[in-house]
Amino acid sequence: MSYDSQLRTSRRILMGPGPSDVHPRVLQAMATPLIGHLDPEFVTIMDEIKEMAQLTFQTRNNLTFVVSAPGSAGMETCLINLLEPGDEAVICINGVFGGRMADIAERAGAKVTKIEAEWGQPIDPQQIKDTLKGLKPKLVAIVHAETSTGVLQPLKEISKIVHDAGALFVVDAVTSYCGTDLKIDEWGIDAVYSGTQKCLSAAPGLSPVSFSEDAVKALDARKTKVQSWFLDLNMVKNYWQGAKRAYHHTAPVSAMFGLREAYRLVLEEGLENRFKRHQQNHLLLKKELEPLGFEFVVKEGYRLPMLNAVKLPEGIDDAAVRWQLLNEFNIEVGGGLGKFAGKIWRIGLMGESSNPNFVNTLVGALKTIIK
Ligand SMILES: *Cc1c(COP(=O)(O)O)cnc(C)c1O
Repeated sequence: MSYDSQLRTSRRILMGPGPSDVHPRVLQAMATPLIGHLDPEFVTIMDEIKEMAQLTFQTRNNLTFVVSAPGSAGMETCLINLLEPGDEAVICINGVFGGRMADIAERAGAKVTKIEAEWGQPIDPQQIKDTLKGLKPKLVAIVHAETSTGVLQPLKEISKIVHDAGALFVVDAVTSYCGTDLKIDEWGIDAVYSGTQKCLSAAPGLSPVSFSEDAVKALDARKTKVQSWFLDLNMVKNYWQGAKRAYHHTAPVSAMFGLREAYRLVLEEGLENRFKRHQQNHLLLKKELEPLGFEFVVKEGYRLPMLNAVKLPEGIDDAAVRWQLLNEFNIEVGGGLGKFAGKIWRIGLMGESSNPNFVNTLVGALKTIIK
């Protein structure tokens, strides 16, 4: 035990599936002296965060705010508020996170129909169209950036299919948000959740969410109480908006200070520039990795710029090399999840971690290890 000395961590180079590296300005903001969560100054900060969440989600949705818990709680917030026991839900699954959505929807008492694709493949819109023919679902949910496989899912065409079937369109944007284009209003997304520790590059533990007017109507039309007290939007909503802020829970004040600064950094850079930067560093990594024998899992055109899923070259021991990267070079890369465990790596280039220095440092270390 070494808790008799002050906390000290290694200076890691974070290139896994999150958390990503955080700008010193964000760390500094988190060290700002605390104020109360109902202090008028904090209420102003919440309003600022809400506005920056709207700008980055490219939405005018009034019900846009940040859940005081990680991305999985944002997922749960969207699904359990929109679903009542007995409702039909269609969940698209091509990796771990689609599976998690289905599990949550089932726990909420919904009748879940699963649409599945091979891991590493996007979901085919035609498959959704065919499935929706015999159903009347309340919502269809899909993952925009499947972090377990590296697939970027095109959304626009699916959004139209979902709305033609009279359903709400729910999107997991935990990894895509602030790293690749995501237009909530233009693409007709009714409920979206994200996380702070991926391309937004803030500390983990918060989940920005947004709900369309149609989603709010569905919330208002509920006949049963939401099963979770903490995630019940009817109550959280009064904490985040309106003239009188009702106490609901104690906001994670320091984390919100950090998030405010992370948003400021995103807006200073500009969304378009940020998306371009993520794409450029992905291409640099690809150019450097392929000659070493790494192969991309996902076909071109559907690859995530912020999460590079690659098959290991023959003769590379997954756990041993990742151990060496971490312990000798201070570099964290992600291993495979679920059925990809041991077979692939997930190299994150998210937010602050998306830069040429990180790419070159990783490639240099790999060349030393595998030569
Ligand atoms: C990371 C991630 C989540 C879960 O977020 P947590 O903050 O770990 O709870 C959900 N969906 C996707 C696509 C993710 O990458």
